[in-house]
Amino acid sequence: MKKSIIILGLLCITAGVNFSCKKTPLNDNKVTPNDFLSQGKYTNLIIEINYISGYAPTDESLNNLVNFLQQRINKPNGISITKTEISVPNTGAYYNLDQIQDIEYAHRKMITSGSTLTAYILYLDKEYAGTASSQSKVLGINYENSSIVIFENTIAQFSGGLTQPSKSLLETTVTEHEFGHVLGLVNNGTPMQTPHQDVANGRHCNNTSCLMYYAVETSDVIKNLLSSTPPDLDANCLNDLRANGGK
Ligand SMILES: [Zn+2]
Ligand SMILES: [Zn+2]
Repeated sequence: MKKSIIILGLLCITAGVNFSCKKTPLNDNKVTPNDFLSQGKYTNLIIEINYISGYAPTDESLNNLVNFLQQRINKPNGISITKTEISVPNTGAYYNLDQIQDIEYAHRKMITSGSTLTAYILYLDKEYAGTASSQSKVLGINYENSSIVIFENTIAQFSGGLTQPSKSLLETTVTEHEFGHVLGLVNNGTPMQTPHQDVANGRHCNNTSCLMYYAVETSDVIKNLLSSTPPDLDANCLNDLRANGGK
């Protein structure tokens, strides 16, 4: 896999004496789904991956993600991935969103600059605090404009077994779903061409067989992963992306 070592920016540049790095807004908060889909402002994309030791994503799922994006977004100068193992303070049994953002702010090296767009995916070793007690567990979240977290050990619990999808398939499915939100689906910054939002379930598609169906980011998805490939985007989601600069 191609690795990029370009450092586009540092997160803690400041003149202030008492400056704290925590919760510093990243430039990437300004990027829009159109920036990802079109080649107007940005001609290449670097996806920065951080993972906890033992919880790295499979190369297969990362290749699948790049192929998925190559089919949907216009980045003539390429889409590449850089992967770094990180260690984080012990947070207890779960991660909440605050802790996840703290990890990103402490470890994300690449921010969008010049003609290079960046995205960030964090692969964690514990479950999400938000659904710790419910039957259905969160596998991934798109929590900022260019930021995704994947709960890799929850993925491991729901994959690889006799009646379960492979780890790569589940990882690919969840990562592509979360990137679908970064691309503005559904009604999440990319306007709908035809109404198809499952409003009761947030920024999701009302088609149960679409990649952007709400259950795809929870452990309920495994019932739908009977084939060897992830669900595709349906016609409504594809039309939205194309109308907002995608392909
Ligand atoms: Zn979702
Ligand atoms: Zn859809």
